[in-house]
Amino acid sequence: MEDYQVIIIGAGPAGLTAGLYTARAHLQTVLLEAMIPSGQAYMTESIENYPGFPEGISGRELIERFTQQAKKFGLEILQFTKAERVELEGGKRVVIAGEKRFSASALIIASGAQANKLGVSGEEEFAGRGVSYCATCDGAFFKDQEVAVVGGGDAAVEDALYLTRIARKVFLIHRRDRLRAQKILQSRALGDPKIEFLWDTVVREIRGEGAVKELVLENVKDSTQKELAVGGVFIAIGQKPNVDFIRGLVEMDEQGYIITDQNCATSVAGIFAAGDVRKKALRQIATAVGDGALAASAAERYIEGQEMK
Ligand code: NAP
Repeated sequence: MEDYQVIIIGAGPAGLTAGLYTARAHLQTVLLEAMIPSGQAYMTESIENYPGFPEGISGRELIERFTQQAKKFGLEILQFTKAERVELEGGKRVVIAGEKRFSASALIIASGAQANKLGVSGEEEFAGRGVSYCATCDGAFFKDQEVAVVGGGDAAVEDALYLTRIARKVFLIHRRDRLRAQKILQSRALGDPKIEFLWDTVVREIRGEGAVKELVLENVKDSTQKELAVGGVFIAIGQKPNVDFIRGLVEMDEQGYIITDQNCATSVAGIFAAGDVRKKALRQIATAVGDGALAASAAERYIEGQEMK
């Protein structure tokens, strides 16, 4: 068993900020990351709404800077260490990751969220062969091709705009007749001649031969179906929280987001949640960073309280 004062799960903006704060508070901290930094922020091509970067910054560079800064103050980061289970043992929170067990007085969950699947035929078969959940990762494979994006939120519209720089044409397929995305993104996309909107439309099937060739679309208003030839389809229909390792232990809402108080404390003493994994009104880097700071400071107070007992 490896013993720390604080364990943080997840190396996104929330976890790295929490780590920066706990390391600066001289709390012995380990941050566990399932892979390498690979979360949603890391995969964002250009971030324009995180203050301090008037020209925008790539998610990758921002996360690398967060990591560098936290490490400078002594944060220990263990990559390829996937939290599988959390147990309570006396006053300790124990995280099990494969053969390894880590214990600490306080645990900060910053495990983020991951892409939802459409659940249609062909989606799994062609994943990585035309079906993608990350335009900035895979977009370059579709140079001068026609591609589709599914969804109507910020992610879908950003993906569509990004893909216009690579693809010949981008179809944005949305199940309603209006977008959910921020107005600034909406107006950019609506004014882009390379983007064609297919409103009130859902994907029923993804077909291909070795790679994606066409989508079977259905208009939800009149139930008519049609085929759309595309080389790739980017699915951006929201996300679900990464909470498998903590399910049943802390209180969650019906979608699995962890319920916390205003200081990021969960229903279990000594366990805090920060960033996209937490139930909240706005999931952005700016709010994740704020959560990370709050959770770290709440964890610090919690540990002080325990040590005084
Ligand atoms: P989101 O805001 O939840 O939007 C999901 C979109 O997918 C909605 O338009 C939804 O349609 C549609 N959808 C959901 N399930 C579907 C299904 N089964 N079939 C077809 N369409 C479906 O998710 P997101 O765009 O991934 O964004 C997630 C969070 O990250 C948001 O808080 C967002 O603001 C944030 N984000 C911010 C930025 C930025 O600020 N630059 C960039 C990316 C993401 P309905 O509209 O009909 O519900």
